[in-house]
Amino acid sequence: MSYLFPPPPTVSVPIVGRGERFPVHRIYCVGRNYEEHAKEMGFTGREPPFFFLKPADAIVVADAGQTATIPYPSLTKNLHHEIELVVTIGTGGRNIAAADAFNHVYGYAVGLDMTRRDLQGEMKKQGRPWCIGKAYDHSAPIGPITPAAQAGDVVNAAIWLQVNGADRQRSNVNKLIWNIAETIEHLSAAWELQPGDLIYTGTPEGVNAVVSGDTLTGGVDGLVPITVKVA
Ligand code: MN
Repeated sequence: MSYLFPPPPTVSVPIVGRGERFPVHRIYCVGRNYEEHAKEMGFTGREPPFFFLKPADAIVVADAGQTATIPYPSLTKNLHHEIELVVTIGTGGRNIAAADAFNHVYGYAVGLDMTRRDLQGEMKKQGRPWCIGKAYDHSAPIGPITPAAQAGDVVNAAIWLQVNGADRQRSNVNKLIWNIAETIEHLSAAWELQPGDLIYTGTPEGVNAVVSGDTLTGGVDGLVPITVKVA
């Protein structure tokens, strides 16, 4: 078989303690999955989980101990950070029950759901898709994946983000509205999950703007922290 032009390279993420990399299939994201963040976005109460996607090639790997660089994206004047726990799928499936969900998880990573908030807000107002606000190039920085067995108590881990050394977001994964298992149950009812899928599980309160020159450092206790500089 031959192709008209070279197919794009496989997007992949390093794995802690292994030579093999984790090939990325899809990036699913959960919206408004911490109560205090839902409130700061103008919503209250527990609504059914909802999802959006980013393209796999929006990934920017922030390797351990290094500073990854993302460009300040086009069109926006309000680039927001959202620190998130990323769940990585090792075994696919559809209609996965919450009780079985962790059997499908390969491991965990720290990710940033970077958001062109002004564009997202405009699309929301008009009832249009969020793609231009969420699914743009370089919008999904991620750190190395820690296999589940080595990741510690991720469901009760602190999640935090600093910008230029000052606290911006600080919460705990146990404050997820829809926890990891419930998220997998809902997601796999809508799509057949595949090995290589990433799930950005949502961000806690404290989202705010960053500008060119800012350095973001974020983590989930028990996982490899990430450092990302906005060019
Ligand atoms: Mn998010």
